[in-house]
Amino acid sequence: VTVYVPRDSTALALGADQVAADITEQARQRGVNIKLIRNGSRGMFWLEPLVEVATAEGRIAYGPVETEDVAGLFDADFLNGGQHRLALGLVEEIPYLKKQERLTFARVGITDPLSLEDYLAHEGYAGLRRALDMSSEAVVQEVLDSGLRGRGGAAFPTGIKWKTVAATQAAQKYIVCNADEGDSGTFSDRMVMEDDPFMLIEGMTIAALAVGASHGYIYVRSEYPHAIAALNHAIVSASNANYLGENILGSHSSFHLEVRKGAGAYICGEETALLESLEGKRGVVRAKPPLPAIEGLFGKPTVINNVISLASVPVILARGAAFYKNYGMGRSLGTLPMQLAGNIRHGGLVEKAFGVTLRELLIDFGGGTASGKPIRAVQVGGPLGPYLPPSLFDTKLDYEAMAAVGGMLGHGGIVVFDDSVDMAKQARYAMEFCASESCGKCTPCRIGSTRGVEVIDKIVAGEPRQAVVQIKLLRDLCDTMVNGSLCAMGSMTPLPVLSALDHFPEDFGDGALNQA
Ligand code: SF4
Repeated sequence: VTVYVPRDSTALALGADQVAADITEQARQRGVNIKLIRNGSRGMFWLEPLVEVATAEGRIAYGPVETEDVAGLFDADFLNGGQHRLALGLVEEIPYLKKQERLTFARVGITDPLSLEDYLAHEGYAGLRRALDMSSEAVVQEVLDSGLRGRGGAAFPTGIKWKTVAATQAAQKYIVCNADEGDSGTFSDRMVMEDDPFMLIEGMTIAALAVGASHGYIYVRSEYPHAIAALNHAIVSASNANYLGENILGSHSSFHLEVRKGAGAYICGEETALLESLEGKRGVVRAKPPLPAIEGLFGKPTVINNVISLASVPVILARGAAFYKNYGMGRSLGTLPMQLAGNIRHGGLVEKAFGVTLRELLIDFGGGTASGKPIRAVQVGGPLGPYLPPSLFDTKLDYEAMAAVGGMLGHGGIVVFDDSVDMAKQARYAMEFCASESCGKCTPCRIGSTRGVEVIDKIVAGEPRQAVVQIKLLRDLCDTMVNGSLCAMGSMTPLPVLSALDHFPEDFGDGALNQA
């Protein structure tokens, strides 16, 4: 009997290693033969550790399993899908999973992330195989035609970056994967790296083939030790099996891949600061131009893409651009792995085609707040995303539709707050975050954020008349940050600040309320 216990960080944090050890020990004591596989997580975090058993009907799930439940599961004959209070039925039939459209995450939770054999048995390397039969121009065109836009947050067409690098003549080109996932409430990059690392490697290899690059780097934040370990393991397996290194690209070139560990700076998720850091320097934002596609890592043409962008490439190549762009709406094509976090009952990963509404995600998938209180605000798109009130929950999650209501999709992180949240404190926090994470290169961001904290304190503490003056000052300051900052850190920090003030003026005292 095959039993699955996830090895994903979320499951580990909830005791999966101990549960796996207990299942092995119980099986030994009872003389039962089992094969225990450490799979990836299905992304239903409130059910972790989610144990699955392979039966003739499909995989039956039990969860959340704690160490004291293990003996009872054996007593209930769970190895044959027996009934137990933790039984959840066929895992694929759990509505949270069944309602998703998993293209990038199609294998996640199903396979053993460290097994190349398992990857190959589940359509792994089908994309690269097809790419090897195409010209490099045709590969770039396929990515362009798919409509794939950067999933890190900027939503820039991935194919255009690739085309620029491909067209730039140079003896050396690089593929860099931005895995510095620093946005609040996000974990989709981490899940790809821990739960399906070969997919990222395949996506980067296809990128290398398309633009003629021989070296790749995956820049991973240091807070992700399990992701780093999984990637390093997968890189060695892929190299040993000739899926990386000298032979894979045949007559095209060779491709070598390395993992590099960041040191925990939010700004190193900004592509040019990341390149500086990769070069061994302090993570300071570079002025553009030149674009990284023309002068990137070590001054060479560089494709720099987020994990999810690169991980979406294998399915695009395997199934074709037409298949991929059949999902989504308008100019937002394909799917986006969204991440439900914060005060939410059913937190986890939901991959859906663009066009799903916030309400569907928060209620149908998320089940409302964990506290049971009403949702008051959500922040979509990380710490630089605006706070959205319930009146905007019917907005479709699509880059343009979100922008039209003053929002953004970013990396797909959704952080939920109930009615106990103090939005003035959240606005203050946005300025404080900017002050501590600013790279310091430009004044509006470096100094403006510190002044912003002070001004918000004055608004909240001040007499109504004084608060009115300070609110005007805050708006002026935000205007300067928006227009005078070199990168998104400074220019977007005003979004959470002003959205909190505009949608929730009552939290900023009488002065703000009267003005609203
Ligand atoms: Fe650095 Fe902030 Fe200027 Fe960006 S906006 S370059 S983070 S100082």
